[in-house]
Amino acid sequence: MALLSTTDFPLLIEKRDGSSHGRIDLHTHTQCSDGSLSPQTLIDRAVNYQIDVLAITDHDTLAGIDIAQRYINDQNIPITLISGVEISTIWQGFEIHIVGHNFDKNNDQLRQLITDQQQAREQRAITIGEKLAKCGFPDAYDDAKKSAGEGSITRAHFAKVLFVQGHVGTMQKAFDQYLGKKGRNTQKAYVKPTWCSIEQAIDAIHAAGGSAVIAHPIRYDLSAKWLRRLIVHFKDCAGDGLEIVLPQMPPQQRQTMLNYCLEYDLHASTGSDFHHPNKWSDLGKNLILPNGAKPVWAMWN
Ligand code: AMP
Ligand code: MN
Ligand code: MN
Ligand code: MN
Repeated sequence: MALLSTTDFPLLIEKRDGSSHGRIDLHTHTQCSDGSLSPQTLIDRAVNYQIDVLAITDHDTLAGIDIAQRYINDQNIPITLISGVEISTIWQGFEIHIVGHNFDKNNDQLRQLITDQQQAREQRAITIGEKLAKCGFPDAYDDAKKSAGEGSITRAHFAKVLFVQGHVGTMQKAFDQYLGKKGRNTQKAYVKPTWCSIEQAIDAIHAAGGSAVIAHPIRYDLSAKWLRRLIVHFKDCAGDGLEIVLPQMPPQQRQTMLNYCLEYDLHASTGSDFHHPNKWSDLGKNLILPNGAKPVWAMWN
């Protein structure tokens, strides 16, 4: 899979249906991390939703990309797949997600970082399992591991186990009561992760020829002051953009994020953060970038 350039995206530049770019979704998950669809099923769904350009951005793994690309080639499916990844980082005690796009999957520096992050995930999962055992759920680790299979193990796998076994009423409650962290407040089975830094994530993505954006900046529960600090730090680390469009975002919030992009000369990305079919959002829905945004794909040349 060669790196793509702006000229590979006529559909995105042309106006279609009155919108400023074609159907694009640059943030999605598969069973290779905590999504519920296989890469193949995700591709089928994307085609049904008339997506022109899709990035698979699983948590700290590149495994889904090849599987999806092979399927696209074998079935001759009319969709452009972008290499992607969502890297967990730690900054000032906050877990910040960095999404990388359009990189060389075989780059050594990026692969090494992924290997380290996988080890951090395994290690953290073991400790989460020990803490949940103390809470009275001795099988949580084995069950979460089984559910993750070969994929990246995440807290979502633990949350699902607690929910399916009836220990909590919803997945959200599993985070609220056991796995989560709200502000400085940590729950019983929260484990401080040993993720890489923002700078390391950006450097690895850049080394592989890709672009790096802050994923869902609105979801970190940061005050305006801290969000600005994060953006300034990200910019100092040579980060490229912000994910300014997510489904279900009030226009005012979109505008605020666009203003940050303009103020700090950052590109803009858009994605659904699709994990599984639900009634509030889906692939490629409500993802048009606002006027004035510099799309992240404009730097792919
Ligand atoms: P991890 O990357 O292992 O920390 O797992 C976090 C994943 O759990 C996120 O990517 C979400 O998909 C999912 N998740 C669902 N609800 C929450 C929540 N309340 N807080 C954090 N993560 C959540
Ligand atoms: Mn997730
Ligand atoms: Mn995320
Ligand atoms: Mn995500």
